Amino acid sequence: MLGVLGGGQLGAMFTGAARRLGYRVAVWDPDSEAPAHRSADLSLSVPFTDDAGLKEFSRSIDAATYEWENIPVALAEALERSRPVRPGSGVLRVLQNRLDQKTFLADRQFPVAVFRAVSDPTELKSGAHALGFPCLCKTATAGYDGKGQWRLTSSMDADRLQERLAYAMNPNTRWIIEQFVTFAKELSVLVVRAMDGECRLYPVAENVHDAGILRTTFVPADIAPAIAEQAQEIAASAIHALQGVGVFCVELFLLPDGRLLVNEIAPRPHNSAHYTLDACTISQFEQQVRTLCGLPLGDVRLLSPAAMVNLIGDEVIRAFSEENAKALLRTPGAKLHVYGKSAVRPGRKMGHVTFLGAESQDVRDAALRFQRTL
Ligand code: AMP
Repeated sequence: MLGVLGGGQLGAMFTGAARRLGYRVAVWDPDSEAPAHRSADLSLSVPFTDDAGLKEFSRSIDAATYEWENIPVALAEALERSRPVRPGSGVLRVLQNRLDQKTFLADRQFPVAVFRAVSDPTELKSGAHALGFPCLCKTATAGYDGKGQWRLTSSMDADRLQERLAYAMNPNTRWIIEQFVTFAKELSVLVVRAMDGECRLYPVAENVHDAGILRTTFVPADIAPAIAEQAQEIAASAIHALQGVGVFCVELFLLPDGRLLVNEIAPRPHNSAHYTLDACTISQFEQQVRTLCGLPLGDVRLLSPAAMVNLIGDEVIRAFSEENAKALLRTPGAKLHVYGKSAVRPGRKMGHVTFLGAESQDVRDAALRFQRTL
């Protein structure tokens, strides 16, 4: 039996891929309504700090992975004492902290935005002035989808945020401030790396975010082949440097002058590679299963240009209005995925639609047309 920590849409898609290959799956997510519980063979919804939960989970599984990087490292370490956990707890520790991750990359000469550590709110103002405005302040841990991220455009913004952080502070909180990058495009590369170091790279994807949350992905990215090659090279080298085993997403900024900066690495399948479910023979979730079980890595070939549109918050309701749903389901090459979350909340990822077609431009147009209906 395979174990997955976290039972959101990524955990549910992992569970689907594992079951298709004949594995049984244990899902541990403290939220009993998390979608992956529904297809689990064993379902645990106790807190991640629960000792009895840990015993039951580790006794039941042969190997474990996770669907997001904010699970407690202590839990990954505890599981690792008796079962393989992939990616391992050492990699998780580095990647779950934005500051440690950026420091790891910068120390090894990977290109990243200029940044500074903020270990105490009183360091924020001086740090922001040293970097210059605009800049971004992010919590070192636990932020996602634009949460725990503030844009500072002036000294006044820094004053205000410093006050707010001091008020809200818990003693272990740290932040990172980064220069605001005026990028031409945002890109991502999905890297699959096996225990023996063999590596497979999916094509470079082009992502559009709004308020820190992914809205659309287009694959292949509309960039020069040399830039795509360089993005893949940086992504693969970063995962080799980490000695990571599993599926990783490396997010990059492409600058107007053609340079690339690494923004963030996630030690798990990623929203920007959901297209692999429909546009590749082997999805990112099957690769997660394969790397976890030590199976040969799968094909990463793109069978068709693809575009993905996220359904966020009540967009899922609009997508299901009678008129929109009929039009979508009649669109050739469109495939709807709904995550089955129990409540619609603003900013919550509720589903996505993948568009496939023979020509990149047609696929982009179809995705953008659909997005306008939302
Ligand atoms: P993150 O949580 O770090 O992945 O940030 C989410 C999104 O915020 C990114 O995909 C970008 O759109 C934006 N962002 C993050 N860092 C920067 C930066 N240094 N400069 C400009 N935009 C950024």
